[in-house]
Amino acid sequence: MIENTLRRQFASDNYSGICPEAWQAMNEANRGHALPYGEDEYTQKACDMLRDLFETDCDVYFSFNGTAANSLALASLCRSYHSIIGHTSAHVETDECGAPEFFSGGTKILLAGGKDGKIDIDEVERVAGKRTDIHYPKPRVITITQATEFGTVYSVDEIQSIGETARRLGLKVHMDGARFANAAAALNVPPKEMTWKAGVDVLCFGGVKNGSAVGEAIIFFSRDLSFEFDYRCKQAGQLSSKMRFLSAPWIGMLAGDAWLKHARYANGCAKKLEERLRKIEGICVLFPCQANSVFVDMPLEMSSSLREKGWHFYTFIGDKGVRFMCSWDTADEDIDALVKDIEELKA
Ligand SMILES: *Cc1c(COP(=O)(O)O)cnc(C)c1O
Repeated sequence: MIENTLRRQFASDNYSGICPEAWQAMNEANRGHALPYGEDEYTQKACDMLRDLFETDCDVYFSFNGTAANSLALASLCRSYHSIIGHTSAHVETDECGAPEFFSGGTKILLAGGKDGKIDIDEVERVAGKRTDIHYPKPRVITITQATEFGTVYSVDEIQSIGETARRLGLKVHMDGARFANAAAALNVPPKEMTWKAGVDVLCFGGVKNGSAVGEAIIFFSRDLSFEFDYRCKQAGQLSSKMRFLSAPWIGMLAGDAWLKHARYANGCAKKLEERLRKIEGICVLFPCQANSVFVDMPLEMSSSLREKGWHFYTFIGDKGVRFMCSWDTADEDIDALVKDIEELKA
């Protein structure tokens, strides 16, 4: 028996395990045999529940992880000579090892800036209009991340304005929703309002960071864009022969809105943590805390001592930026322990 000696951490929401609802749904899917490759009843039901959730007849697929979901979705929107306009800090640009470019056969990602991790619409226009000649890759998609890599959330109005700009420029809209649940919990609007009704063509809806083990949903609201997507998934090694274990957790998560409950809870933990950190001298909160993460600047000695105390966290924001992230199983005592350790370092 392996003893797990790692305490609950704030490094990422993927440090957490599987939430009870997803675990139970997997357990139920494990009773006996089922058809392989997504032909099973669990997958059918999960797709139907997602269609109900979004109140539209969308096409739904499942992949093992988010990199595959984003890359394959983008590849199906683009030809090799196209380009994708995304934020400088977008996961597809910084954390997917070139997978979107690889799976699309060469589509280039063009970067646009924007405050608090949100793409600036004027920048998008500038990038899209920069060149129209044959020598430059043709813009085809705007990609946005909801919630963003900096824990902020696009409002419905902001998404609508991106959607309108995209339509005017003849572009499609892809949403990286690795933390879509946290954004939905924060905005508290029906999911359709922040997706297809606002102009989103395809959403990669994250399950893993919300509480499942594996399985992201790729949702095409514009169904013509999913042409032969099943072949794309298969070729990329994303067609699970025991698909029910990727899809069944969605049944557990969607039933009774467990997905929202967990996201709301994680967001609430981040808010609590943020309020406590704000009070500590020498610490400065970097972005509005709108989802399940808190980004702070802290002196370098403080962050390295905090690591020595056994805490894990990412520091990819500038020199002194530290990210703390909450998940469905963050406990008040974890927040207390982290804050106490930081306060002690300050003293
Ligand atoms: C975690 C994450 C993903 C998916 O990452 P995988 O490790 O490939 O599952 C995608 N986008 C964002 C913004 C993420 O944070």
